[in-house]
Amino acid sequence: MSTTHPRQRHSPLEPLGRLQFLPGVGPGRAAAFERLGLITVEDLLRHYPRAYLDARRFVRITDLKPGELLTVSGTVRSAAAVRTRGGRTDFALTLADGSGTLGCYFFGQPFLARVLKRGAAAVVSGVVDPLERRMLNPMFEVIEGDTEQLLHAGRLVPIHALTRGITGRMLRQIVRVAVDHAAGRVVDPLPEAVRREHDLDPVGVALAHVHFPEDDARLARARRRLAFEELLLLQLVMEIRRRTFAESGRGLASAGEGRLAERVIAALPWPLTPDQRQALGEIVADLRDPHPMHRLLLGDVGSGKTVVALLAALHVVEAGHTVAFMVPTEILARQHAVTCARLASPAAIRVACLTAGSSADERRAVATSLTAGEPMLLVGTHALIEGDLKLPDLALAIVDEQHRFGVKQRSTLAQKGALPDVLVLTATPIPRTLTLAFYGDLDVSRLRHRPAERGRLVTRVAGEEKLDLVIGFVAKELAAGHQAFVVVPAIEDGVRPVRSAEAEYRRLAAHPELAKYRVGLLHGRMRSDDKRAVMNAFSARQLHVLVSTTVVEVGIDVPNATVMVVVGAETFGLTQLHQLRGRVGRGRERSVCVLVPGAGASAQALERLEVLASTQDGFEIAEADLRLRGPGEPWGTRQSGLPRLKLADLARDEALLGEAREAAARLVAGDSQLRDPAHAALRVALERDYREALDLSLGA
Ligand code: ADP
Ligand code: MG
Repeated sequence: MSTTHPRQRHSPLEPLGRLQFLPGVGPGRAAAFERLGLITVEDLLRHYPRAYLDARRFVRITDLKPGELLTVSGTVRSAAAVRTRGGRTDFALTLADGSGTLGCYFFGQPFLARVLKRGAAAVVSGVVDPLERRMLNPMFEVIEGDTEQLLHAGRLVPIHALTRGITGRMLRQIVRVAVDHAAGRVVDPLPEAVRREHDLDPVGVALAHVHFPEDDARLARARRRLAFEELLLLQLVMEIRRRTFAESGRGLASAGEGRLAERVIAALPWPLTPDQRQALGEIVADLRDPHPMHRLLLGDVGSGKTVVALLAALHVVEAGHTVAFMVPTEILARQHAVTCARLASPAAIRVACLTAGSSADERRAVATSLTAGEPMLLVGTHALIEGDLKLPDLALAIVDEQHRFGVKQRSTLAQKGALPDVLVLTATPIPRTLTLAFYGDLDVSRLRHRPAERGRLVTRVAGEEKLDLVIGFVAKELAAGHQAFVVVPAIEDGVRPVRSAEAEYRRLAAHPELAKYRVGLLHGRMRSDDKRAVMNAFSARQLHVLVSTTVVEVGIDVPNATVMVVVGAETFGLTQLHQLRGRVGRGRERSVCVLVPGAGASAQALERLEVLASTQDGFEIAEADLRLRGPGEPWGTRQSGLPRLKLADLARDEALLGEAREAAARLVAGDSQLRDPAHAALRVALERDYREALDLSLGA
């Protein structure tokens, strides 16, 4: 939007100045806040609590029950620093309230002696330890007047994300100052009409209550209001992009009659499924239309998206244009180029592959052909768009596995051609109801059913103690001429004690059952030539077992592989495991995926793995994943390449999402570029959060 309007010097969302100048902050703490991405006072106000502790139950000391979060109000009777034998200094106090006395103990916090002095009135919230009969590290507040507002105890206590140098108490105090000082001055992105219509509080009120809720009802109201704002912005982006695409008549009618595609279809070793036919029909209709296409091909792993994309590409090449097929990794690019060339051989088109590993000669040859206007299918990675390669005749950009791709990259790609048609292929198994939230700006074609001629894929969970049995089973499959994947958690994981790919590789290579077989190793830190060599050797059946990190996750196609063993399975997400196991079960034979959780896997982690064993439907898995994830693990926009939602949860806030969609549609229908002064603040908020996403909608 900024491209047509001069940028305002002072936006209506004046961000209320730098945090550094807020009382109680200063340069040192400002630097710490910066680590949390908080620069301005508004940033801090938008740093919503990640949880709340309910410390509202006040009781008399005599009524305290061990194990429950309770609050008492009393007077400090005694207070003293305590030297431990280990040389640490702790702090202990006794609180009295007329009904009894309570001991409180603070580990390593001798400085508390300065605030919690004998005779001080204090409120403490905590859990009485059943063995020690005292509170360990309780939350507390010293009461100085009777009008004191409780921040740290005796209330719904906000818990904010912290960083080194910033404690929870410090943050609450500073947020309190920010709320008192500035919440009322935050410019409200929501137009008043929208607020009235949807019964939403002004932003200042919501910000105050989200940090320091007086009760559950007000917290819920604040949350709803702020989540609505996030969803409205997201839906506005979708709506504006969709409209811009629909209204810009600058695309090409870029599809031939389909003779090349027909030839290729006739030579395929199997018939297209009805879903594939229908999707292809929809795509080709878009290609023929002069409006630029912006379509999503949504289909579970193994549903056969590649051939649909290839056939669409053939229509475009037949009409004399360039097609760019973008995939996330070099291995995949090479593999897709080979697959496409093989499938498309009856059409005799040029298929080229460019990656970071391509030689200067290859690169030059492709560039020359492109400049000469030779139609071709060009397969590659980001290298296609990040370099200075010119794609003057680019008419179709295909983006595979979209969730690995940034919006920015899509947008750069879109800028390489006049306004190429864009086809996004994705297997991201989002719950059906959320399709619109994620992809409201795209037309969607779906592959619902997999090709029928597939062997069964069986998934089993087997504890680590059974690993030898599992290897024995692998050996049997190898003896029958098949191949196996062994997937291990990433080697760079420094957080959990995970097996490294290298160690697992050595162990398997030396395993007596596998003595006759060749085992290869593939991980993300290898040089790209080496990766390619290993992958080629596995495809060519020169390797029998491939030990690898999740680099095999996306798109690798070796139908002769019939077993996958996933070690440390509990460390992967459900949808990621689903993607992984999609690498087997691709041929006609029965395939098996064995999930081997580590010895320390929790009961909940095991339950998640059982879900995977019980179904193959990616959407069902996504729903289960949603049900099984705890609070604080919201179903957000992370995978979509859009900014993260902080409060809104696309699964739980479905109704609110519906409201936001409607509001967005109405706003854009009346004011497509949000030029109405009443929408100025909304527009600024959009530009702040979604600049990249909107750039794409405005085309090159
Ligand atoms: P994905 O949708 O995960 O990208 P692919 O396009 O890689 O799936 O297809 C998975 C496998 O299914 C490939 O081996 C492909 O050749 C095969 N395949 C695609 N379409 C059909 C079909 N109509 N019938 C049988 N096999 C098919
Ligand atoms: Mg694929």
